[in-house]
Amino acid sequence: MKVLSRQEELRRILRREGLEAFLTVDPIHRYYLSGFRGSEGTLLLLPEETVLLVDGRYTLQAREQAPHTRVVEYQRPQYGEELRKALREAGVEQVAVESRRLTHAFFLQLEAILSPEIGVEPREGLVEGLRRKKDEEELFLLRQAFQLADEGFRHILSFIRPGVTEREVALELEFFMRRQGAEGAAFPFIVASGSRGALPHGLASGKVLEEGELVTLDFGCRLEGYHSDITRTVAVKRVSEEQRQVYEAVREAGEKALSLLQAGVSGKEADEAARAHLREKGYGEAFRHSLGHGVGLEVHEAPSLSFASTDILEDGMVVTVEPGVYLEGRGGVRIEDAVIIRPGGYELLTLSPKELLIVG
Ligand code: ZN
Ligand code: ZN
Repeated sequence: MKVLSRQEELRRILRREGLEAFLTVDPIHRYYLSGFRGSEGTLLLLPEETVLLVDGRYTLQAREQAPHTRVVEYQRPQYGEELRKALREAGVEQVAVESRRLTHAFFLQLEAILSPEIGVEPREGLVEGLRRKKDEEELFLLRQAFQLADEGFRHILSFIRPGVTEREVALELEFFMRRQGAEGAAFPFIVASGSRGALPHGLASGKVLEEGELVTLDFGCRLEGYHSDITRTVAVKRVSEEQRQVYEAVREAGEKALSLLQAGVSGKEADEAARAHLREKGYGEAFRHSLGHGVGLEVHEAPSLSFASTDILEDGMVVTVEPGVYLEGRGGVRIEDAVIIRPGGYELLTLSPKELLIVG
């Protein structure tokens, strides 16, 4: 089970940082470190064991999903007592918490429960750092989630036609992927047609698709907590010369960036490769966001592919490449692929076609 190696890895990081124990109430990190998917619970990573404190609603589920973790059931009023006991028995004097992933109220509550015996140490990015590189179990789920998104794209091509609304397209996509086994939508889908395509984040609206429009679809699904994220832009019925030009510039920008990707390349270099191409084609100003992002248990996570990124890509990272051009009043094009970074190259996760498809 991979969670054991994740727990060990986090212990190594804690030791390196001079920390003794780690506490999280974040559902994503609880799941990542234990396998438990309940909506409430406190995960404690102690030097010798991992403990999951849950209330009676989750005891059975926690035992089933987190076999490598000692499950402690508590009655609500005894939460503080059980927490103190677990930390005291482990002999720790301080515990690290995730300042970006707990509320201020809970932080104060922890201090009240634990002080003065045990110090509460706010930290950032401990687990996020680990999550940057995916292990085989994660890659297995990500491949499936991206495959489902590809199937969704293939399905929706026959649904898109003049007269349907953006919202109907989004709903059909979600319905299809859920019927195929997705847990849910990865995020509220973007379906942006015609001049709405100029909105990089144009959520599906009641607008009706019309002949001669480009439609940008940015969507994905969630599978056992892992997300897919794909964008394709298609033309309804016909395409103008300008639309084709913009499309080809975006497609080529993506190819330029992809051709660079391998372990050791920086997020900034990849971004610049795509950006330089769009500049050359006269669309430099029209590419108004960063090139890509990590994807996994969250849709947007580290590393980042952007002009400001300091990240260096490593074997096992999963990142998107999504150049776009947005022209006010006219529309837009975005094409998004995802890859697994490998030494000397990458494995493509998004296999949907990238030539401009005319549908409807
Ligand atoms: Zn996307
Ligand atoms: Zn994305």
